[in-house]
Amino acid sequence: MTFSEMNLVPQLLRNVEASGYTIPTPIQQATIPLVLRGSDVLGCAQTGTGKTAAFALPMLQNLSRRPPRADEPRVIRALILTPTRELALQIYENFVQYGKRMPVVPAVIYGGVSQNAQVEALHRGADVVIACPGRLWDLMNQGFVRLDWVETFVLDEADRMLDMGFIHDVRRVVSKLPEKRQTLMFSATMPPEVEKLALDLLHEPETVKVDPVSSTVDAIDQCMYYVDKANKKHLLAKLLREDDVENALVFSRTKHGADRIVRELKKAGIESVAIHGDKSQNARQAALTAFKSGACRVLIATDIAARGIDIEGLSHVINYDMPMEPEAYVHRIGRTGRAGRTGKAISFCCIDEMKQKDQVEKLIGKRIPLRESEWPMEITTPTDPKTRQPRPAEPRPARVNLRGEAVPEKKPAHRTPVTIPKGGQAIVIGRSGKVNTVPAARGAQAHPAAPKSAPAKTTASKPRVAAPVQRVNRHRNKG
Ligand code: AMP
Repeated sequence: MTFSEMNLVPQLLRNVEASGYTIPTPIQQATIPLVLRGSDVLGCAQTGTGKTAAFALPMLQNLSRRPPRADEPRVIRALILTPTRELALQIYENFVQYGKRMPVVPAVIYGGVSQNAQVEALHRGADVVIACPGRLWDLMNQGFVRLDWVETFVLDEADRMLDMGFIHDVRRVVSKLPEKRQTLMFSATMPPEVEKLALDLLHEPETVKVDPVSSTVDAIDQCMYYVDKANKKHLLAKLLREDDVENALVFSRTKHGADRIVRELKKAGIESVAIHGDKSQNARQAALTAFKSGACRVLIATDIAARGIDIEGLSHVINYDMPMEPEAYVHRIGRTGRAGRTGKAISFCCIDEMKQKDQVEKLIGKRIPLRESEWPMEITTPTDPKTRQPRPAEPRPARVNLRGEAVPEKKPAHRTPVTIPKGGQAIVIGRSGKVNTVPAARGAQAHPAAPKSAPAKTTASKPRVAAPVQRVNRHRNKG
């Protein structure tokens, strides 16, 4: 299936083409028709699958069909809630990009910056508001936002909302939405609380599932070094000097950590650039351009900042820190080994990260081969958690309430184990109870950033097959 077969208006098709997309990703193929016809959708997918365009394109089309008349004020007709500033900005930028020369105006709202520009944008009028729940609730209380005319509501990354303790804000915002609306909800995992939220928010939804992670994992040459935290910098510098490292994306757990790595590498004579949420959009863009053009071959990133960035042909992904969530490991390493290249994923694990390592190995269903270096792990007693003072991981920033007081971090909710199916196709679980099979779209990418021409390296070069489609019935739980 191509975009032009999806009943999208010509201007949207031009914008999609200008974005460089040729084939809709599985989630786009499954979701776009559903959103166009007004259905509620529960999407089990994470960022990186092309999820944003899956909801943004049909929303833009639906909204552009009924632009406000010249004598009518522009009111908020679509609301997208997303957990982080990074994601809010990214979705906003996507709306701008996909909605070029269309009569739809987006605005973005997030905390941590002055509200003035955001309030001004709202006063000028916006059809689509992309917001983080805390700041939105704040502006609603100040009377700057009214949600009475919202026709489509999107809850993005619902499981992260839960993990980050935003679910209360989400529910408060939702209580102000019109009862009659279209609701789209996306979540990478479906822990029971997210499932419950889905039942409360969605009305007879169609369920779309897409592999949360690329199936190319098996193909990537993975290895792990046990190394003390203090020696990671030496090991990194040594590995980066090795011949086969053409370019490397290095993952740091924290923003400060990313900056520290850049400084340490500089001392070792290696140039690198960092992208993370504390950097301005311009600084991040400049870093990305330097990396993509080859001017700088080492990019240090946090998970959130690296999300959705499209870098092809990476020779190495290095997990300087083990990810806090095992799914992130698969997502990180899926960025290498593309375009027919041999990809390498190297992880550093210190004694305090053994638990994360175990979780990753459980998720991927195999042990990561160990390598030895001149810096073997010598500290074998985990740091006492009381004396350890890690900075909070970026996806779980410290929060303040509306009065600016610190809100205690909530414990992450129980996560449903993620299975890694081999197919990479979206499946649609409809509401009629019928069982269907969706044929695999030729050339469709499980991961949108996968190679456009050559296939990713796979061990057995298995063809992608369509996943079975089951249908279930859901009803909104009004209680
Ligand atoms: P998302 O999951 O929405 O964050 O998208 C991840 C990345 O995939 C972004 O860089 C998008 O620009 C890109 N993308 C989205 N749809 C497609 C597509 N159909 N073909 C190629 N790239 C895409």
